[in-house]
Amino acid sequence: MLGGAAGGFAGPADLDLPLDDARLREVGLTLGSGVVMVHDQHVDLVDQLRRIAAFFRDESCGQCVPCRVGTIRQEEAIERLAAGTGEADLSLLRDIAGAMRDASICGLGQTAANAIQSAVVRLGVLT
Ligand code: SF4
Repeated sequence: MLGGAAGGFAGPADLDLPLDDARLREVGLTLGSGVVMVHDQHVDLVDQLRRIAAFFRDESCGQCVPCRVGTIRQEEAIERLAAGTGEADLSLLRDIAGAMRDASICGLGQTAANAIQSAVVRLGVLT
């Protein structure tokens, strides 16, 4: 995971990418805060996504609706997906991510779905 909770997950196919922010942004990643967290095959990535979602739900100040509601709905959708309740929540997660990114007031809401979306899209977590 590059850039911390507001960054994104890189997968095995990304291992040869240089740690260069401009290059990473070309493929939808960022160095962000500079955090590089390495996970091996023993890490429960669904649990990681739960923790990231809970972090953003807690950190949302509540001033704007996309972030205040989106972080809660994001966490709920992850719980349903983790319980195996169907693909509808994958598109819901994507829609929530878009709304938070495009309509949140500050960077917290705008990046609250980054890591989760990257785990779903790049690594297939929750799919
Ligand atoms: S996006 Fe920023 S201002 Fe809006 S609720 Fe989230 S933390 Fe507050």
